[in-house]
Amino acid sequence: MTTTDADSVLAEARPRQRSRIDSSAAISVVDLFTIGIGPSSSHTVGPMRAALMFMEVLPEQPKNVTCELFGSLALTGHGHATDTAILLGLSGERPETADPETIAPQIAEIRKAQVIRFGDWSVPFVEDRDLLFHKGVFLEQHSNGMRFTAQMADGSEIVREYFSVGGGAVLGGDAIADASSGGGKIGHNLVQPLPFSSGAEMLSQGEETGLCIATLVMRNEAAWRPQAETEAFLDDVIDAMNASIDRGMKQEGMLPGGLKVRRRAKAIHARLRAGQEGMQPAAVFEWVSLFALAVNEENAAGGRVVTAPTNGAAGVIPAVLRYYRKFVPGADREGERQLLLTAAAIGFLYKKRASISAAEMGCQGEVGVACSMAAAGLAAVLGGTNQQVENAAEIGMEHNLGLTCDPIGGLVQIPCIERNTMGAVKAINAAYLALQGDGRHIVSLDAVIETMRQTGEDMASRYKETSLGGLAVNVVEC
Ligand code: SF4
Repeated sequence: MTTTDADSVLAEARPRQRSRIDSSAAISVVDLFTIGIGPSSSHTVGPMRAALMFMEVLPEQPKNVTCELFGSLALTGHGHATDTAILLGLSGERPETADPETIAPQIAEIRKAQVIRFGDWSVPFVEDRDLLFHKGVFLEQHSNGMRFTAQMADGSEIVREYFSVGGGAVLGGDAIADASSGGGKIGHNLVQPLPFSSGAEMLSQGEETGLCIATLVMRNEAAWRPQAETEAFLDDVIDAMNASIDRGMKQEGMLPGGLKVRRRAKAIHARLRAGQEGMQPAAVFEWVSLFALAVNEENAAGGRVVTAPTNGAAGVIPAVLRYYRKFVPGADREGERQLLLTAAAIGFLYKKRASISAAEMGCQGEVGVACSMAAAGLAAVLGGTNQQVENAAEIGMEHNLGLTCDPIGGLVQIPCIERNTMGAVKAINAAYLALQGDGRHIVSLDAVIETMRQTGEDMASRYKETSLGGLAVNVVEC
């Protein structure tokens, strides 16, 4: 698409309001880290959930179902596998349990038969007619909008609009849908023992109680479930993150989508293993980059990854977690849990005070937020004080401000895969930089989150997951 085409598409775009989560709402760690499939939390995981939610509200088998996609979902939905996600969701699949190995034949069958099967129901579905990409049209509430319509046997229609607001969470009507496999549910009336909605409140809760940030989060999680269950959830997330690294390091060949991006993780892994004897000066960073690369290649291939806090940025936290395990003496499972809980505390603040949706914030809201979260988590397990942890999170975002989202071909591949390697390395640097100080610093985490929010609002739509600007229009697809 040329720049002129892009201008005309955007000129038609109606002004949009942000749909931020109420800052007083309680968010659980299970809302932030969810095990799902790639390539995108907002464009794959969210739409799959929305399609399933719609089918579940229907009282009986409909005569026909249609889905209309708006805004960023329409512009980059093909590259982000939104079409596949909608077909799967309408068929009753969930991101947590859909098997990446069987998705391709399942979709081929739906397209061949032109029928959606949902339990006992068989609903005619002709994709060209029933799945519509309204490019250049935005619903007012959010730039990731979906409208589902069912024609019922008695001639009536059931219509619902949903919004994929980032990290796999779906807003429909006035309720935030459960974005997790662990049943966290974002709670608007839930009472947490040690709530915080800003970095300043987080620090003052720590000061008053003498607790570290990870423990504050763990105490708050008790509002949903016993500690042992939260620990089991964290262990599943850690295992899933490691599994995505290990699987990614074994795969080779071309990524899907037509960009001809070759998977690199396996070859890099072989080279690094061969050179392990005499460690080169940059070897640690090469390992960290490899871990992130492996996860994001898996994500781009539609494999199983952990949304952390989004799929596009799914490699940053696992890479830093693996760095901790491989390179920090004394690293253990307790430390890994602490890293994730601390990272979650920071993620809550971005969700409450800004957004983690690239369609609203650009890539600063995805890779930038993941970098900030990972920096905080690492600073904590390296022995940082709460102030140093907050400083690490602030540094992690400060140097991602203004980062745009311009994926080539609408695919979560370029710049996304390498960008995660940068986010992971930057997070480690931010953690060590913060630990060099005493926690006192000029720019607070709250100030940098607010700056990210304002920058995201001011950013032209062409740089917010529309593939209408930046690299997406300056690199010729071959
Ligand atoms: S550029 Fe960043 S925000 Fe955009 S799709 Fe890629 S990883 Fe996500």
